[in-house]
Amino acid sequence: MNGAAVIRKANFIGGRWKSSFFHYELKNPYDLSTIAEIPLSTPEEMEEAIAEAEQAYALVKTLSSHERSSILYRAAQLLEERAEDFARTISLEAAKPIKTARMEVTRSIQTFLFAAEEAKRMYGESIPMDAAKGGEGKIAFTVREPIGVIGAITPFNFPLNLVAHKVAPAIASGNTIVLKPAEQTPLTSFKLAELLRDAGLPDGALNVVAGDGPTLGPVLLADERVKKISFTGSPEVGKLIRSQSGLKKITLELGSNSALIIDEQADLDKAVPKALTGAFTYAGQVCIHTQRIYVHEAIYDAFVERFVEAAKTLIVGAPSDEQTDVSAVVNQRSLQRITAWLDEARQSGATFLAGGEANGQVIPPTILTDVNESEKVVCQEVFGPVVIINRVGSVEEAVRLTNQSRYGLNAGIFTTNLDAAFRAAQGLHVGQVMINEIPTFRADHMPYGGVKDSGIGKEGIRYAISEMTEEKLIVIQL
Ligand code: NAD
Repeated sequence: MNGAAVIRKANFIGGRWKSSFFHYELKNPYDLSTIAEIPLSTPEEMEEAIAEAEQAYALVKTLSSHERSSILYRAAQLLEERAEDFARTISLEAAKPIKTARMEVTRSIQTFLFAAEEAKRMYGESIPMDAAKGGEGKIAFTVREPIGVIGAITPFNFPLNLVAHKVAPAIASGNTIVLKPAEQTPLTSFKLAELLRDAGLPDGALNVVAGDGPTLGPVLLADERVKKISFTGSPEVGKLIRSQSGLKKITLELGSNSALIIDEQADLDKAVPKALTGAFTYAGQVCIHTQRIYVHEAIYDAFVERFVEAAKTLIVGAPSDEQTDVSAVVNQRSLQRITAWLDEARQSGATFLAGGEANGQVIPPTILTDVNESEKVVCQEVFGPVVIINRVGSVEEAVRLTNQSRYGLNAGIFTTNLDAAFRAAQGLHVGQVMINEIPTFRADHMPYGGVKDSGIGKEGIRYAISEMTEEKLIVIQL
């Protein structure tokens, strides 16, 4: 394959590699070859990692903010030096096209840089106590304090940047971490643990325990020493996690079936290429994948014609190939689910303008129109290279259909009409609205999180720090 394959039978616990007795074979999603052997860790190994993280917290919480910031700056620098190795590892284990994997590494460097900056900005606020009778003569202010051990559980689709979104703000705010990476993509997390050790992170501050979610997750959730759970993944697992987390602080970054509205006054030169990126980047395995496009009837035929033409230019192939735009979906289960949903849509009268049939592990870019809103490919999260283009009569109708979803993460509208843009922004029930941008847009410092089944709480470094710290009030009587 390429030089990134690693045989790794150990977890990273307490700053050392710890051999694990049970293993599983990690498969390349594209050609199904074995690329590594990964620990199938036991609950006891998870408990050991929690104990190490708790012990390390005693030291980590005493680090000054400039010391934490320096570790994060150094991590960003090392990531820049090791960028190609990280990109190849991501591409190998996630079947992410190499050029897309490189973009993920570039974003992750930014994520660490933002965290390095934010480590120095954990401000509190001053409270005007004399606003209440009896408060005269009192001075009060808040301080932000770390909380201790954070349990992080991450998905397969951004094995570096979504891990960075938990690890970097945790370090910035003086916490320690036990990370359970996705079964499909643990290698990148192991490499990141090594990198952070090289950047000067104290032993035990980041522990990586690989293996089965339903076996290891409940140990993290039940343990009193773990003060917060930060989860990114599917709504189904997110709900389970919430029900098992007691009074722990919790952030849930979950899925969606994001919609893009193309208004009759949209600039198609801008909208078409962006919509294409939103629909097919990483084979649609992105939480803010542009899954539904609602196009105004006045511009519908022109949009569809140009979109389908543009989709024909996408190159389908091996993830390691420099030219590839779209490659395999992550596993057989995913492939079968997506093709079954496509078959259901076909049987209920949807028109296929492109794709639809899997070839090996790859589903080519698939474009459907005239799809019933109750079909799974519309109302569930498809998490594949599939886009639905349906016709609407107005922005209001598109907003109503967008809001019918059980999810609410990002939504977008293309229009040159300011009034339509603001009507949509006001009406959309989602976490983030993009105007003249696709819902698939995210910058790593912006507040980011969903409503409804898309989650609870926000990420984006500053916002994640706020969720990983406690605000303490100090009152002084003069
Ligand atoms: P998943 O829910 O199947 O798995 C995510 C993680 O949860 C994995 O590490 C898994 O091992 C673990 N897990 C599974 N069962 C568990 C349990 N019972 N207890 C504790 N942990 C358990 O998700 P996935 O297939 O890896 O990722 C795809 C999903 O993630 C999609 O729904 C996608 O939208 C979502 N996602 C959301 C965001 C966001 O920021 N909102 C970003 C990326 C992905």
